[in-house]
Amino acid sequence: MDWDEFSGWSKQITDWGAQYHKGLRDRPVRAQTAPGQIAAQIPVQPPQQPEDMAAILQDFDDIIMPGMTHWQHPRFFAYFPANATPPSILAEQLVNTIAAQCMLWQTSPAATELEGVMVAWLRQALGLEDGFTGVIQDSASSATLSAVLTMRERATGFTSNRTGLAGRGALRIYCSDQVHTSIDRAIWVAGIGQDNLVKIPGAGPHHAMDPADLDAAIRADIAAGHTPAGIIAITGGTGVGACDDLDPIIKIAKTHDLYTHLDAAWAGSAMICPEFRDAYWHGVDGFDSIVFNPHKWLGAQFDCSIQFLRDATPQLNTLKIEPEYLKTSGDAVTNYSEWTIPLGRRFRALKLWFLIRSYGMTGLQERIRNHVAWAQELCEAIRALPGFEISTEPVLSLFSFRCPGDDQTQQKLVDAINDDGRIYLTQGAFQGQKIIRVQVGQFDTTRDDVMSVATVVQEVWESMR
Ligand SMILES: *Cc1c(COP(=O)(O)O)cnc(C)c1O
Repeated sequence: MDWDEFSGWSKQITDWGAQYHKGLRDRPVRAQTAPGQIAAQIPVQPPQQPEDMAAILQDFDDIIMPGMTHWQHPRFFAYFPANATPPSILAEQLVNTIAAQCMLWQTSPAATELEGVMVAWLRQALGLEDGFTGVIQDSASSATLSAVLTMRERATGFTSNRTGLAGRGALRIYCSDQVHTSIDRAIWVAGIGQDNLVKIPGAGPHHAMDPADLDAAIRADIAAGHTPAGIIAITGGTGVGACDDLDPIIKIAKTHDLYTHLDAAWAGSAMICPEFRDAYWHGVDGFDSIVFNPHKWLGAQFDCSIQFLRDATPQLNTLKIEPEYLKTSGDAVTNYSEWTIPLGRRFRALKLWFLIRSYGMTGLQERIRNHVAWAQELCEAIRALPGFEISTEPVLSLFSFRCPGDDQTQQKLVDAINDDGRIYLTQGAFQGQKIIRVQVGQFDTTRDDVMSVATVVQEVWESMR
């Protein structure tokens, strides 16, 4: 393909994209295909001869599209959102086209410098103190792993990268039982071991860990000869939106000289609204590391995860490595690959720049406020359905409910709702019971889309009986 042909196909794909988004409400939200159905339509062996782009795009429409679940569908209420707003998609098209590898300042100074400014914009937008710097990572999982490795290095006097962990006794890390599995996996990968991730039960209206339990667990570990290394708190757990009480956690961390990381992957976006900071984020400035995903609720196309750091030095002392071939430009510049585990990095800051400029902070705040208000309204409509109960009250725009009947009935209802296709919900677990989760956060969703959940739930429930 030459670049003139490329131009023609690009225009065609852009038009296809606008039509796709405008017609999303007419498609079932979740793919309605059986396992293996898509793969069976694709040749087992690669073609030996070149094929025409027209044929490739035709197959894309015929074979691939029926097997897609539509994350940008206005009635997507499953998991958490993965909003890709039009300006962020345009930025990604530019980034894809330039296809730069932005590992060092020198390998694209604009990417590094824009990243620094975007982190600073979002620091202010989230109301964090001046001192925080940060880096854009691919995912919250990577940011959390970076923080856990930093906890490990710091607790071993920055020697375990060199000598390993053998013969040191147990390093211990603390969190609530509401954290995301990315925390467990970070503990595995860091060589700390699942048994050394101490989980404190979450309780109360915010499903928060009890600071007294946390402190007692740390003291018991010290008495047992273990080495506490860090605390991981959560704002907006994946299951039911658990939010830890941050102030007391920071006090405990200071008492025991522990490194702290906050996972706000989903809920962090809502903190652009000061009223939600007041409700959920007291004490946030005390954390050493904070992660949030603009690629979830804020509208920046995946992937875009910001890790704020109060002092980048411990993480740099953990991850920075500088072979001769990467030595460039001296100390005057930032080389963000030294802050993260992967060397290679995409130009992720551009979509934030396009997004924030296009919407302005007020445009983004308005969407998030609507989502929270509509989720609360929907929660009341579901509470009013005969025999239905609210299992967990709304935390921001996430709540969960149960229909009459046992766990099996809950799953049957979720499956029937998703087979129906008008909306998409997922199940979860809370206090040993199956629950049905609802989150509101898709950028094109309207109040009518949100309120349609109550209607669809009721209709599907009645058709099941
Ligand atoms: C989504 C989510 C994660 C994982 O995010 P990735 O960017 O996919 O790694 C971690 N923690 C919470 C609370 C989440 O909601």
